[in-house]
Amino acid sequence: MNNPRIVSIEWARLEGQRPRNAGSNARLGDHGSLVRVPIARITTEEGFSGFGVCRATPAQAATLPGQRLSDLFSLAHGTATDWLLFDYPLWDLAGQLTGQPVYKLTAAINGLTVEQPLRAPCYDTSLYIDDLDLASDQAAAELIAAEARDGLARGHTAFKIKVGRGARHLPLEQGTQRDIAVIHAVREAVGSQATIMIDANNGYNLNLTKRVLAETAACNIFWMEEAFHEDRVLYLDLQAWLKAQNLSVLIADGEGQASPTLLDWAQEGLINVIQYDIFGYGFTPWLALGKQLDAWGVRSAPHHYGGHYGNYAACHLASAMRHFTYVEWDEATTPGLGAAGYTINAGHVAVPDLPGFGLTLDEEIFQRAVAANGFVHTIGGR
Ligand SMILES: [Mg+2]
Repeated sequence: MNNPRIVSIEWARLEGQRPRNAGSNARLGDHGSLVRVPIARITTEEGFSGFGVCRATPAQAATLPGQRLSDLFSLAHGTATDWLLFDYPLWDLAGQLTGQPVYKLTAAINGLTVEQPLRAPCYDTSLYIDDLDLASDQAAAELIAAEARDGLARGHTAFKIKVGRGARHLPLEQGTQRDIAVIHAVREAVGSQATIMIDANNGYNLNLTKRVLAETAACNIFWMEEAFHEDRVLYLDLQAWLKAQNLSVLIADGEGQASPTLLDWAQEGLINVIQYDIFGYGFTPWLALGKQLDAWGVRSAPHHYGGHYGNYAACHLASAMRHFTYVEWDEATTPGLGAAGYTINAGHVAVPDLPGFGLTLDEEIFQRAVAANGFVHTIGGR
């Protein structure tokens, strides 16, 4: 890779839609159907470009034009710590300059070789708490089961169900009973071979977690995500209880404001799946983390919900860690963001063997968005 100068950055916020409204989780209300995708495109003096999600302010972005690529990024490590705001556009640019998909560059950094073509395991993350207007648990369970069948029709074989209805939205006992009914109905709908996970967004406590896992033992839950705010004492108890019950449920945690000691607890075996966010924590930092988690025998399943683009970007970490478990898939379509090379089949994302992230920007739509809500900085100043 040569060492070009960055001459411009163009930024705009694109907007897309989920095929179905996403309701509540245990903490928050309606998530809606709108997804916002903040995109920066950076261009070199030779006219090569890379683009990707970027949350830089105009003032932060103004520092980029004029920089040499070698000060921002290396093929041995990824994005330099000081420039992580531009992590995704830089990885895409590196892919364009080398003619390689990002997943090959990331695998090389972690000393792995890529099976061709790359198929990254994924799960349908769209089963939100969409049933709060329904009076009966049976009608609620039927609704979420129908949503799971939509996911099956889209090629999914793994499904994550939001639970914790009794934490805020429903009276505790009613919400807990409904969670249990929903889990059973989804298992029934997707069949015994599919994978089911549940996510309480910290809406359970230890006793509630045990009750729900005991009453859904026949449903073979793969992981329990954010049962309660992570706590070493409570996770020690839960892991001992799971063992005594002969339940093979994994403990997943780490999105959001994770405990600073979360990784210590993972190394200790209290947390089995780490879910740091690919934007909050970052893509380049995830590469090094995944390698560390591999060494500990801990699974990687990066979180990214809400911005659509992470569906694709997360796939490019799958090649770089042996214990990569799942891409979170939040089905959406964003006009201007082309992802024709990505398809879901049999529970896997087929990832295109194209340079960078293998995505395209529609020039007209992007320029319109830049004019409407974005900005441009060039080396000459503008
Ligand atoms: Mg979650």
